[in-house]
Amino acid sequence: ELPSTGTNPRLRAGGSRPGAVRVVDGVSFDIPPATTVGLIGESGSGKTMTANAIIGLLPDGAAVGGQLRFRGEDLLRTDPARRRGLRGHEIAMIFQDPLAALNPTQTIARQVGEILRRSGRPRAEVRRRVVELLDRAGVPEPTRRMRNFPHEFSGGMRQRAMIALALAGSPALLLADEPTTALDVTVQARILRLLHSIQQDEGLAMLLVSHDLRVVAHVAHQVVVMYAGRVAERGPTGAVLGRPAHPYTRALVNSVPAVRTRTALAHPLPGTPATPANRPAGCAFHPRCPMARERCRTEQPAVRSVAPDRWTACHFAEELLQA
Ligand code: SF4
Repeated sequence: ELPSTGTNPRLRAGGSRPGAVRVVDGVSFDIPPATTVGLIGESGSGKTMTANAIIGLLPDGAAVGGQLRFRGEDLLRTDPARRRGLRGHEIAMIFQDPLAALNPTQTIARQVGEILRRSGRPRAEVRRRVVELLDRAGVPEPTRRMRNFPHEFSGGMRQRAMIALALAGSPALLLADEPTTALDVTVQARILRLLHSIQQDEGLAMLLVSHDLRVVAHVAHQVVVMYAGRVAERGPTGAVLGRPAHPYTRALVNSVPAVRTRTALAHPLPGTPATPANRPAGCAFHPRCPMARERCRTEQPAVRSVAPDRWTACHFAEELLQA
């Protein structure tokens, strides 16, 4: 929940505390080891907020309810110092804009080696490990390039440095928030292949936040589709994208011809996305849904199982699955 700010009157709507808005509501999913979960949805769907809640990077005044379990430990009830300690070590994050995340005044070697130095490793060992990490992240000539500053790297190379930095703490969980959005298409593909191979080799649990279905279709084992801060659908990526059980997922898939093989035509999503602050009553998707009926305007659909390992929040999911 976020407090109302005064500068954004829409945030006063809804929420369970006076003046608060429930930005992300009832979101539930697991990320097993060696698995990538793709979190998709349009902007304002709450996917970045969900990732930020996991790593503990929420705006001041935000309150998080429920449970966030990491290796059996509920992070919401964990001592704040321990939670900070987990961040960057066992739970690491890769951001969309590495230039903003990297320190412009420090060399790549200094930043990637920071966590290793803090753990008290000898200097020579830190240096050797930094070279190893940069090499694993695909930075060419790591011994030479580690002496560069971030502005001396290209966008793709900075993202590789960011990946090396994220791996430095030997994380069990990697959160990647739109890791390739700022890159050109060829570099995007290389970075995605790299992330996928690292995730597989290291057995990492990875949460990949993306608005791009093609990115998620390539690397995610499971997918969670979010709309207006709630889960619309979740399940195995191939099944969800190949045979959606929610009209919103179907509309997303149809908007990207490369994902839906049956049609070469892209159909842009109709209407304006609802946001948590202006979430319509009933099913939040009903103003844009071609299948909407009276019930959808008044009754919020619960997330329910419609097939083994498949969950959806649509009253009429069976009609889609049988079509
Ligand atoms: Fe559409 Fe109704 Fe399903 Fe919502 S519950 S997605 S409005 S059919």
